[in-house]
Amino acid sequence: MNYYSLNKKAPHTSFKNAVVKGLAPDRGLYFPEHIPALPASFFETIDDKSYSEIAFEAIKQFVTPDIPEPILKTIIEETLSFEFPIVRLNEHISTLELFHGPTMAFKDVGARFMARCLGYFNRNNTEEVTVLVATSGDTGGAVANGFLGVKGVHVVILYPSGKVSNIQEKQLTTLGQNITALEVDGVFDDCQDMVKQAFLDPELTDKMQLTSANSINVARWLPQLFYFMFAYKQLHKKHEDLVFSIPSGNFGNICAGMMAQQLGLPIKHFIASNNANNVVTEYLTTQLYNPKPSVATVSNAMDVGNPSNFIRIQEIYKNDFEELKRNLSSYSYSDDATKAALLEIYKQFNYIADPHGAVGYLGCKDYLKDHPDAHCVFLETAHPTKFLDTVEAVIDKKVDLPAQIKAVIDKKKIATKISSYEDLKRFLLAEQKQD
Ligand SMILES: *Cc1c(COP(=O)(O)O)cnc(C)c1O
Repeated sequence: MNYYSLNKKAPHTSFKNAVVKGLAPDRGLYFPEHIPALPASFFETIDDKSYSEIAFEAIKQFVTPDIPEPILKTIIEETLSFEFPIVRLNEHISTLELFHGPTMAFKDVGARFMARCLGYFNRNNTEEVTVLVATSGDTGGAVANGFLGVKGVHVVILYPSGKVSNIQEKQLTTLGQNITALEVDGVFDDCQDMVKQAFLDPELTDKMQLTSANSINVARWLPQLFYFMFAYKQLHKKHEDLVFSIPSGNFGNICAGMMAQQLGLPIKHFIASNNANNVVTEYLTTQLYNPKPSVATVSNAMDVGNPSNFIRIQEIYKNDFEELKRNLSSYSYSDDATKAALLEIYKQFNYIADPHGAVGYLGCKDYLKDHPDAHCVFLETAHPTKFLDTVEAVIDKKVDLPAQIKAVIDKKKIATKISSYEDLKRFLLAEQKQD
């Protein structure tokens, strides 16, 4: 499969090149040339297939021939080495738990898949690739963990000082080896801006191969379409009208769900559930797209003021606003509403959600008011203990830490403080000299 740039001013390119470069030379996001639907038999026989078989069939066309089929099988087996269970809360609401991976956030799948693709592409190279990534919380840990020990890849993570949870910070600052954490005096948008500026800086790009591991990278974005197929496999016999409520920040996850729909997965509707960062919620009401600086919330992985994948969603629905509205609703919720939802889920269903999942739950509830026959699946994008302070305070109960979290909590944080783009540049150039 070849990819084109959504800015339409760059040559089409291979999967490999799209992954290694991250962004097209015209700064556009890459998008697949075609999205051929899977045969009806794929969905008819989904009950007989393992998750790895489903994932392989679904993504094969997007990554071959650059990743040969046998290699792809191995990459998928290694990527999907944990569970993706559905928990049914009642007749109309389920949650899909995406937090059983090593860093307990859904980003593990994309990060592990991308790391293995890059490792394969780089198998004979002596030239080091530097993966530069800005994180609002969970990306950093997932990418650090996914890329740990991958040959020829150095990972540099920028995170906003004091704006990520204690556990998130530990997950991205304690690994060592080929992973470096930079603690930025600023907010997530400052981190993202610095990363973007680095990609545009010839003094850096002439000297090193930089790539991104944010969801703009096709190898991180596309594997997320697996989740929707895994949910379908578990629910389709019981429920016909499946809708998904996706706690959204950069809109990569929801956009991957829309790719699954394009592949033929019978998804009735998508709900983009947002915190106070509500650019898309407003867009669907006013048709005006107004990016804003992000504001801090208790669901910090969604504190994004200008979601980078929204342009891919526009492409999927061919920039047709009415078509978009037929497929997508969006709601925005305050921190107070989010906390009240956490408590409600706990009291009514004896289920402990995390703040992002709680926002997704609220999206389901609002949608179901007008569509009482639907079955709404909200994605539980992180384990509740990643947001321990909020969760324990709201439900007024101590929560047990899972093994993945216990393993990092007492480790020593190692991070370099930076406060400007110049600091980042100096750091990268110095690293380069050492190699
Ligand atoms: C990244 C993240 C999100 C937002 O996902 P997008 O693909 O950026 O929309 C939601 N919840 C959690 C826990 C996350 O880590």
